[in-house]
Amino acid sequence: MRSHLCNRCGSCVGLSEGKIVFGDKTGKYQPKIIAPIDEQLADTLWEACPGKQFDFPKYRKQFFREPAYFHEFIGPYERIGIGYAADSQVRREGASGGIISAILIWLLKQNKIDGAVVLGMSTKEPWLTQAFIATTPDEILCAAQSKYIISSNNDILPEIAAFKGRLAYVGLPGQIQSIRKLQAAKHPSVSNIDYIFGPFYGNTLHFSSINSFLRTHGEHDYHTITKLYFRYGEWPGNMRVELKSGRIIELKKFHANYLIPFHILRNSLYCTDLTSEFTDISGGDAWAPVYEERGKGFSMVISRSKKGDALLKEMVEAGWLSFDQISEQEAISMHSHGYDFKKRGGFIRIKFRKLLGKSVPDYGYQIKGFKASRYLMEMVISSLFIVMSTSFARWAVEQFPPKFIGGIFEKTRTIWKKSTHKIKRREL
Ligand SMILES: Cc1cc2nc3c(=O)[nH]c(=O)nc-3n(C[C@H](O)[C@H](O)[C@H](O)COP(=O)(O)OP(=O)(O)OC[C@H]3O[C@@H](n4cnc5c(N)ncnc54)[C@H](O)[C@@H]3O)c2cc1C
Repeated sequence: MRSHLCNRCGSCVGLSEGKIVFGDKTGKYQPKIIAPIDEQLADTLWEACPGKQFDFPKYRKQFFREPAYFHEFIGPYERIGIGYAADSQVRREGASGGIISAILIWLLKQNKIDGAVVLGMSTKEPWLTQAFIATTPDEILCAAQSKYIISSNNDILPEIAAFKGRLAYVGLPGQIQSIRKLQAAKHPSVSNIDYIFGPFYGNTLHFSSINSFLRTHGEHDYHTITKLYFRYGEWPGNMRVELKSGRIIELKKFHANYLIPFHILRNSLYCTDLTSEFTDISGGDAWAPVYEERGKGFSMVISRSKKGDALLKEMVEAGWLSFDQISEQEAISMHSHGYDFKKRGGFIRIKFRKLLGKSVPDYGYQIKGFKASRYLMEMVISSLFIVMSTSFARWAVEQFPPKFIGGIFEKTRTIWKKSTHKIKRREL
């Protein structure tokens, strides 16, 4: 709980009968034990925790018996394509193509589920995320779009268990890994989850990113936030903060990415699952100039289970989704930067952590054999993450206008991507 291996999935809080809580959600957002825990509960929590151990090959065998394809970067899958929700409102309100929201609405309308576990913003504290069970299309749309600050969806496991009806569940890879572990253990808290969907996952940020963003704009009290969006408007969208005073602050998503190295949740660096490998269907942004130029919203969609693929087929035939199949190689090229970060960088960072004598996650597999140049590159990246997360660096960056820093960050990232192109493309 106190190591960088905790991804804040919320399972220990949800299963603890009130004995574990998240202490300071605008601070470190760490689980805190507030009452004695007996041995039986401790065993359950330990089993449900995905931070220290999640055996990819074992659970792959269990949940995807005979997938049509498997790639060690992508995971098991049936089909990969580029798509978007046919309903223009769903597409517009979604983070990229509105695929995940469209699927949930379709399942609800077809009576295949009675509710969906989604992540919205808290109504009481609109600066924080809050998971809930959506039972109407409006509620699903209300929770659309990506939230780039810590979310702990599994802290509502008691509500999930008490829900009368079938559920779909949406979460990040770490949250889903815990749900899969509980399903494998036949834990009653997850017995009504029929479908699992998830966004791709590069990283998430501490709440300090919001404080920093406000300070840069001369605002000093996050309590004055009335609405917080991370992907507002046309794809790829803007980070947008609405304040009690009526002031609205907006910054292009690509520029707001400058917050990442300063406020990244350290666990994101040890998570090696980019494309949410344990879902029925997962979705990410279709990052390619050909789509980015067109705006509107395009997703990369990966169907993984037979059930997920059948659902995708049904929706395409019914005219609910647009879906154009692409090859594995095209999919990898589109996210080569992300795969490099997670499937190479992730394992190298785990190795560095082990060398420092710290606890490391056990994923039941490793990717290794990288060139010395990739290790060197990781040393530079990891050092930058350490330096940039210091209070001094955070303070220093706040002295500049975010548009300016965001612009520099976007350009530096492009140069960095180009200069590392060869390292990353090699063997992909
Ligand atoms: C933290 C984070 C990091 C991401 N990193 C990448 C990346 O590196 N590369 C990439 O291609 N795509 C990434 N994505 C995915 C991308 O932003 C879109 O979510 C994805 O393309 C799906 O878009 P959509 O329009 O189909 O989803 P929508 O229809 O907008 O639905 C999104 C669903 O995800 C749920 N959700 C949103 N945020 C969270 C969260 N923090 N925790 C749990 N559930 C959440 C919502 O409740 C909603 O149901 C990331 C998403 C998140 C949340």
